[in-house]
Amino acid sequence: MTYLAPFRPAARSLDGLTAEASPRRIHLSPPHLTGREAAAVQGVLDSGWVAPAGPAITGFEAAVTAATGFPHVLATASGTAALHLAFRVLDIAPGDEVWAPGFTFIATIAPAVQMGAVPRFLDVDPASWTLDPGLLRRELHAAAGRRQLPRAVVAVDIYGQSAELDAILAACGRWGVPVISDSAEGLGASLHGRHAGRGALLAALSFNGNKIVTAGGGGALVADDPLLVARARHLAHQAKDPAPHYQHSTSGHSYGLSSLLAAVGTVQLAELGRRVAGRRAIFDRYAAAFADLPGIGFMPEAPWGLATRWLTAMLVDPVRFGMDRETLRQTLDAAGIESRPVWKPLPDQPVFRDAPGAGGAVAAALFARGLCLPSGTGMTEAEQDRIIATIRGACRA
Ligand SMILES: *Cc1c(COP(=O)(O)O)cnc(C)c1O
Repeated sequence: MTYLAPFRPAARSLDGLTAEASPRRIHLSPPHLTGREAAAVQGVLDSGWVAPAGPAITGFEAAVTAATGFPHVLATASGTAALHLAFRVLDIAPGDEVWAPGFTFIATIAPAVQMGAVPRFLDVDPASWTLDPGLLRRELHAAAGRRQLPRAVVAVDIYGQSAELDAILAACGRWGVPVISDSAEGLGASLHGRHAGRGALLAALSFNGNKIVTAGGGGALVADDPLLVARARHLAHQAKDPAPHYQHSTSGHSYGLSSLLAAVGTVQLAELGRRVAGRRAIFDRYAAAFADLPGIGFMPEAPWGLATRWLTAMLVDPVRFGMDRETLRQTLDAAGIESRPVWKPLPDQPVFRDAPGAGGAVAAALFARGLCLPSGTGMTEAEQDRIIATIRGACRA
């Protein structure tokens, strides 16, 4: 079984899913620029160091360390590239199982399945929407019994909320299974006073345009262990052995981050604390505005840390609210407001229909009712008021 179905472009157009961008349309999570990015890029151009190496890269990696506490950082072309490198460092081989929560973006697992791994999707905990450690513990026990332990487990921070990493580490540590953290949505989040992802063998961050801060595309692979990051750095730059000629003992990737983008990312990282506060304030305004509406709930904040509320994720009970999630999404769309259903569970994706798994009812229930609301920190209060009024107007009560 491979998960590389041939690409067949859909005949149907995407009209209605991607309405025209217009100045008045409110987007889900657009980049929030400071005005200082252009000067930073110009500074790199003036220096001549525009390759994926040099002072802009080391400056960006130092800024990631300053923002997260991870001592070792590799700047990468994307969060997905960072995850691919993590799987390479772990030597994931064809037929190996890699476990992940089913409630996440496909990039959590896509690089592993492209390496021939078999994904196994576990359900999430309704109290955090992240990987259920109790289910993980039971599944690991069963897998050990059939001598089929996974080669890695991926914990995922969702919508700015850290996974319950300590419980996941304890469950996996019992069997010697390494844990990777997909912290692409977790930048700025904490658990037990440390940065999200800290404690995993390797963690991946994303600086894509829709994330809490952006480099205009980019990522980082971070760890406490310098050797793991050194090995990833080697693989990220074509796996060149030390020799005067080009010599390779393994095949690598071209996964370095451009210096121009690193400069943008460094400017943006300086804003991270303000962006976390801003996203949380946006969530608080939604929660207060809908406190009296029947049938509206929100993603709970887990007790083990501070969530960034990268996206405000809301649940709509169709009977009590008087409208289902999809009709509400269309109502918002018609009012020039972009919203998105929460992650469609990976076990329900056509590409993974044959993948093994455990549970899935929680993720399916979240998908049936969950909607992400515009959460960008560049949004004005007047714009958020327009969103709030549209949702209040849609409520039957
Ligand atoms: C954004 C995201 C990624 C991928 O990051 P890119 O930088 O876009 O490659 C991976 N996992 C999750 C959960 C994400 O949200």
